[in-house]
Amino acid sequence: MELACLDLEGVLIPEIWIAFAEKTGIEELKATTRDIPDYDVLMQQRLRLLDEHGYGLPEIQEVIGTLDPLPGAAEFLNWLRERFQVVILSDTFYEFAMPLMKKLGYPTLLCHKLEVAENGQITDYLLRQRDPKRQSVRAFQLLNYRVIAAGDSYNDTTMLGQAEAGILFHAPQNVIDEFPQFPAVHNFDDLRKEFLKASAVHSE
Ligand SMILES: [Mg+2]
Repeated sequence: MELACLDLEGVLIPEIWIAFAEKTGIEELKATTRDIPDYDVLMQQRLRLLDEHGYGLPEIQEVIGTLDPLPGAAEFLNWLRERFQVVILSDTFYEFAMPLMKKLGYPTLLCHKLEVAENGQITDYLLRQRDPKRQSVRAFQLLNYRVIAAGDSYNDTTMLGQAEAGILFHAPQNVIDEFPQFPAVHNFDDLRKEFLKASAVHSE
């Protein structure tokens, strides 16, 4: 039995924090782990900026609701779901992703969770576990699934390494150079081909 694991941001949907920063004009929200390597420091800064600009969860969800999946993403996901059981593994939060998951037909999503006060203010965040993408792949393998995984960035590489086959999609050149063991493709047609190549069940 085969399972496809997909990263979400940068693969099926835009980077949520970047897109949100562009929509709202809050430049400092464009900071990523490349600017502030400590994820906890980065998240605390993001939550403080949301507070300062008066964004609670309902306002954030409204803005995120105006975003769309990447062109071709919904069609690709449907194609994949006809051939594999698909699980999306993401480092985003359910509360942020849901308006976009609606546009993708609510596929299975494993990610993190926010703590939200009654007035909508985001007070904290809960990470599901450490190295969650790789741990998820390990768990599926214990259930006798053979896993093919695709993602675009550093936080996907342990997942790609754990899977029986890993594919880089839309990855920046530095990630491609650092992880030459993974095939790297840049459009959904080529990603379909890589999934078929990696599959023990389906072929081109
Ligand atoms: Mg990503």
